[in-house]
Amino acid sequence: MIFTKHFRKYYLIYAIPLILGLAVLIAVDYFQLIIPEVTGDIIGTYRRANQDIAAGAIITEDSLLRQILPHLGKLLILLAIVAFGRFLWRLFIFGTSRKIEEDVRNEMFEHATKLSNSFYSKEKVGGLMTYFINDLGAVRMAFGPGLLMIVDGIFLGGLTLYKMFKMDVMMTVYAFIPMVALAILMFILRKSMREKFRARQESFESMSDYVQENLSGISVIKAYVKEASSALRFEYRTKDFFDKNIAFVRQRLYFQMAITIAINTVIFTLIGYGSYLVIYHTFTPEDLMVYLTYFGTLTWPVMALVRVITISSQAGASAQRIGEFFDAEIEVNDDLAVETPELCGSITASNLSFSYPDDPEILILKDISFEIKEGEMVGILGRTGSGKSTLVDLLLRVYNVELDTLYIDSHDIITIPLKQLRDTIGYVPQDNFLFSDTIKANIGFSQAEIDIEKVVDAAKLSDVYTNIIEFKEGFDTILGERGVTVSGGQKQRISIARALTKDPKVLILDDSVSAVDTKTEEAIIKNLSQVRKNKTTIFIAHRISTVRHMDKILLLDDGKLVGNGSHEELLKVSPLYQEMVRLQTLDRLEDEKGGDLDA
Ligand code: ATP
Ligand code: MG
Repeated sequence: MIFTKHFRKYYLIYAIPLILGLAVLIAVDYFQLIIPEVTGDIIGTYRRANQDIAAGAIITEDSLLRQILPHLGKLLILLAIVAFGRFLWRLFIFGTSRKIEEDVRNEMFEHATKLSNSFYSKEKVGGLMTYFINDLGAVRMAFGPGLLMIVDGIFLGGLTLYKMFKMDVMMTVYAFIPMVALAILMFILRKSMREKFRARQESFESMSDYVQENLSGISVIKAYVKEASSALRFEYRTKDFFDKNIAFVRQRLYFQMAITIAINTVIFTLIGYGSYLVIYHTFTPEDLMVYLTYFGTLTWPVMALVRVITISSQAGASAQRIGEFFDAEIEVNDDLAVETPELCGSITASNLSFSYPDDPEILILKDISFEIKEGEMVGILGRTGSGKSTLVDLLLRVYNVELDTLYIDSHDIITIPLKQLRDTIGYVPQDNFLFSDTIKANIGFSQAEIDIEKVVDAAKLSDVYTNIIEFKEGFDTILGERGVTVSGGQKQRISIARALTKDPKVLILDDSVSAVDTKTEEAIIKNLSQVRKNKTTIFIAHRISTVRHMDKILLLDDGKLVGNGSHEELLKVSPLYQEMVRLQTLDRLEDEKGGDLDA
């Protein structure tokens, strides 16, 4: 049984089916224990008839049949009740446990989507999958079979023992002592079972992480011919999982052996002592049969209670792991949010500094101040690692910033509800990720109902329309694992189209045209400057050619803002900008010369 923080509410939510299920279960137990009595009555009737016949009485088959028929009728009704009852409690109890599993899984996924990037930089996706599958499965076992076994074990066990006691006290004491010893042993071993199970789950998690990461990076492994070493490292993990599994199973096996030995000892004692009672006329033969049937019935509750120990120790370990996952803090939240009017899209940074949570000592952005007016088209330029993507992450509130450092319009970004903030911004990430779905669904990702006209318009604006219609299935082409692979440049442009369908107040493109040629780049920028009139657009780039015509360029260097102005202004005042222009012009001239020579 699990009563930890994140799970106990389900007993209340599903109280009705659970109570109904348990009530039916108890009723079935009660009726089930009448069956041996009826069987005993039938056999007793035959035995007495035989005795009477031996004493010279005449009993016809007809009269014997008449005596037996009511018993048979009773037996039939009992069997039917038990069968139907078993179906019903399965439906209620197991059905509820599946429902709870589904609810928790949905809740886990929702929580997973809210957790911040810093959580995912520590926890690997492959490992998290085991929470969703194995651990949740173990928890379900506690709610379904676990709950059933506890109630059944206690009630059926108690009732059976009562009936056995009523028949013969001494014999029941003989039967009971080994069973009690067994239960005590189980209780003592419980903790180590739980630890072994946790170790097994953790080993499984590590193995699953490894598979996920290595299969995602399979092309790198192949390119570096690391298949063999990658497989060898996997073998260490499977070996570890095997060892942990064996340790766990071995303990379970000891359990089961102890049970079998205890039960066999008892059966032998009962038949021996029972024979003595029959010989000395305290018991009739049918009494002994009924008693042995009771004992047979008792083995299930004992087994069930033992299984409950395994199930609950596994579920306890898993519930603890899932609980830790649920307790992982949602760092980026709406705690300080206030109702905010519709945003227009001006951005102000005021002495903004930032370091990543895992590296609080290293300042990535240093004392940055700037202003972007509503409707401006702004380029952010800077060498690799200068902090451009980090700045965008802060605008999207992927990470928290300090109060009074970053504003959208005149609202501190911390006070803007997250949904509203992110709805306002269209974002094309640097490592643009596409879902394995149709191109249409990828581009129309922001729309509740895909509006194909808008999707087509966005594709035209990002200059990928002609590529898409060349695919056999056009916009219905499926991308990724299940479909075609698009080129780096096509991927970038599909990502741009995805952001454009949102028609956001602020559009941010992080290095989004790096993989397309300059002609396509020019076409995209021209299209964007037309459709984004009066709407803020931020272009992160490495190439001067991308940003030179923009209203304003922010130049970052090693986390500091070292230039803020138009191309012409920066050319006059910024040595770094002058240097970048010089180098990039040289590059271009060399390219052109190379081109001429090729021709
Ligand atoms: P590029 O042009 O290559 O995309 P960038 O200007 O976008 O570079 P950022 O991605 O903002 O650079 O990175 C700035 C610095 O922050 C780098 O030194 C990087 O190592 C560091 N950094 C980035 N992400 C994290 C993170 N999650 N945790 C810690 N440090 C990080
Ligand atoms: Mg970047």
